[in-house]
Amino acid sequence: MVSLRTCIGCRQKFPQLELLKITRLKNQTIKIIFPLVKEMGESGRSVYLCPKTGCFDKCFKRKGKDGVEYGLKVKVDDKTRNSILEKIDKTEN
Ligand SMILES: [Zn+2]
Repeated sequence: MVSLRTCIGCRQKFPQLELLKITRLKNQTIKIIFPLVKEMGESGRSVYLCPKTGCFDKCFKRKGKDGVEYGLKVKVDDKTRNSILEKIDKTEN
């Protein structure tokens, strides 16, 4: 069975393994997992994102309830954003 997750950018559902996973760990640091090698349970708060710059831009521009930081309940710093973008760039090229 394929688990579907909603992309926080375009709000569409995709198989979990196709998405980039952003997880907030217990110590409040953010871990980016991509590619996902197997379906994992939810360890801490996680959001999912298509590995596309379009979805990345959308989800970080969105403020309030639907934004990434609301979903994770933690601030996403520039360094973390850049490492997400790097992973997306590699996938798109
Ligand atoms: Zn998307």
